[in-house]
Amino acid sequence: MDLSLLLHAFIPSWTSVAMLLGYFTYLAIFGSILPGKVVPGATLSDGSRLHYRCNGLLLLFLLVLLLGIGGWMDLLPPTAIADRGLELLSATLVFSVLVTNVLYMVGCKSHNQSSSLRPHTTGNLIEDWWFGIQLNPQFMGLDLKFYFVRAGMLGWLLINLSVLVKCIQESNLSQSMILYQLFCVIYIMDYFIHEEYMTSTWDIIAERLGFMLVFGDIVWIPFTFSIQGWWLLRNKVELTIAAIIANCLVFFMGYLVFRGANKQKHMFKKNPKALIWGRPPKVIGGKLLASGYWGIARHSNYLGDLLVALSFSLPCGISSPVPYFYPTYLFILLIWRERRDETRCAEKYKDIWAEYKKTIPWRIFPYVY
Ligand code: NDP
Repeated sequence: MDLSLLLHAFIPSWTSVAMLLGYFTYLAIFGSILPGKVVPGATLSDGSRLHYRCNGLLLLFLLVLLLGIGGWMDLLPPTAIADRGLELLSATLVFSVLVTNVLYMVGCKSHNQSSSLRPHTTGNLIEDWWFGIQLNPQFMGLDLKFYFVRAGMLGWLLINLSVLVKCIQESNLSQSMILYQLFCVIYIMDYFIHEEYMTSTWDIIAERLGFMLVFGDIVWIPFTFSIQGWWLLRNKVELTIAAIIANCLVFFMGYLVFRGANKQKHMFKKNPKALIWGRPPKVIGGKLLASGYWGIARHSNYLGDLLVALSFSLPCGISSPVPYFYPTYLFILLIWRERRDETRCAEKYKDIWAEYKKTIPWRIFPYVY
């Protein structure tokens, strides 16, 4: 493609801006009014707890239904997202910068002293803008961190579905595309079915909301996790039956570890006596789980996620590194994240963490690292 044409493809049309604003407005309005289990979040340092309405699955079904009806009535073609991928990417990027600027200004001006809203400033503008000022900023009763990650995960699904329709319209549907789509649908649906587990993740309990999270949630997740789908739209891969079976095994093993480990930790936080694999849990210092997946390696949930990420790329074969962007990025991110979390936990749990490390020496990769 000619460079000027490529650059032109990034300039958002009013249609893209309207689609984006419509999407965020839908999530805000329907996220507040649709019913869903209300889950208390982690207890914050001042003893308060936020509450999260977990209605993401309903939001997903309703939106897919509305878009289906819109497509059927010729109001919005189902390929609208796939046709405007680059425009939507730049519009979302601009939106994430604007949102971060507002968060920065509101955070700096806040005099609220609660754990959620107390401003944390280092005096370094770039650092404060990047990492955020407040832990849990809210807008119209919505917890913005929970809102943005939901927007990212649902956005990823919408991009994939639109790419799938485009692929079918172009009579280009392959086994690879079916595998990639299937794995992603399972993973994303699973996210929304277990949306309440998100409330005990590090992003929600420990990270402040700045550009890193806003960009990560609404730009990075939907637009880079879907690279394999975009790539398969333009490239053909022949898979053998053995490759398909191996690919499915990698996905299901990864999924089992990812979901199992996150579930065990979530259940343990709710009830430290809850059985793990049918047995009473091994607990260190009354606070850290050292059985189940957490007794095999520290942060074994990251291993599960890495296998799942790899399984999203394997359908693309090995002719190009492009579809391996997501597992490569995730590998770097999770190694870095594990180290940051390790520092945080060592500070928080002190001797208990040291004992946990002695009992479970492996980090992410059992018997390797
Ligand atoms: P974790 O869910 O692993 O949470 C880390 C926190 O869990 C620690 O800070 C500590 O918090 C608690 N903890 C750690 N070890 C133990 C233990 N043995 N017993 C009890 N509590 C423990 O981290 P994340 O939030 O980073 O990840 C959640 C999921 O999201 C993971 O599966 C990860 O792979 C995935 N993820 C995916 C990304 C992607 O781009 N696809 C990006 C980031 C994460 P506390 O203070 O509460 O004890």
